[in-house]
Amino acid sequence: MSFSQDVKTELCSQRTAGCCRYAECYGMLLFGRSFSMEGISWLSSDKNAAEHLKNLLYSNFSVVATVSEGGVKKPTYLVSVDSPNDIKRILIKYDRYGTDANLSLNRSVFVKECCTEAFIRGAFLVCGSVSDPENDFHAEFALKNPDLAEDFLEVLRARGLNPKLSTRAGKKVVYFKNGVDIEDLLTVIGATMHSLELMNVQIYKDMRNKTNRIKNCDNGNIAKTVKASMEQREAIEKLQKSGALNTLPPELYEAAMLRLEHPEAPLSELCVIAGNKFTRSGLNHRLKRIVDLANM
Ligand SMILES: [Zn+2]
Repeated sequence: MSFSQDVKTELCSQRTAGCCRYAECYGMLLFGRSFSMEGISWLSSDKNAAEHLKNLLYSNFSVVATVSEGGVKKPTYLVSVDSPNDIKRILIKYDRYGTDANLSLNRSVFVKECCTEAFIRGAFLVCGSVSDPENDFHAEFALKNPDLAEDFLEVLRARGLNPKLSTRAGKKVVYFKNGVDIEDLLTVIGATMHSLELMNVQIYKDMRNKTNRIKNCDNGNIAKTVKASMEQREAIEKLQKSGALNTLPPELYEAAMLRLEHPEAPLSELCVIAGNKFTRSGLNHRLKRIVDLANM
């Protein structure tokens, strides 16, 4: 199962609080396939979510919805309310009878914070998805109806979330790209276990990045030391060949010999070998002068 499906399974395994059922059912219907006098129907590949909606319709309205299985390649589940009377009753309850229920949001359905969260959870069960955090940090709601996008965005922001909006293949997509923002979303909709899992992955990824950075930095320093000592040795050999080495002032000659005898040693080690006669920067300065002389 995908991470997204796992999250939905976690959501459906919980019992929605009495006051929140009405709001959760609204979130599921509003973003579902059809929510109007012509019909109320809802399609998903998630069997748990379909059963969840059926239960919500029954506990809120005593409506017995039909769940039918279809799909060719993979199974799909269609939840539908068939009786025109039931449809009318549901629309009246949501104060959407006689208007186009899909075009606007009735916020009086979720006044309390817990009910707002239930509404967002309902929407997530229909059109939400979240990537496996091992691969990517991405969560989204793909909204079929663009008219609801701005309103929905406002609901999410009012609940302290940080969504962004874009358009993809004619659909408005409300998305989250940042690990912390996705963690907040999962917590708000009640997927606590998966929110924790995401947090763990984030901590692990952070640690790995830090370790890599430190390693790269160490490697960089070693490379610099090796390159500098090679340059110095080449310079000294060049001076030797031209006979100029013996004419160097004693303090430079001494540094050159030290380097030749210990070709691999870093400067700090050379200083120790020389009985701390030089400071690190003093020795560095002398070796630089030798390189400059060889290049003249
Ligand atoms: Zn509530």
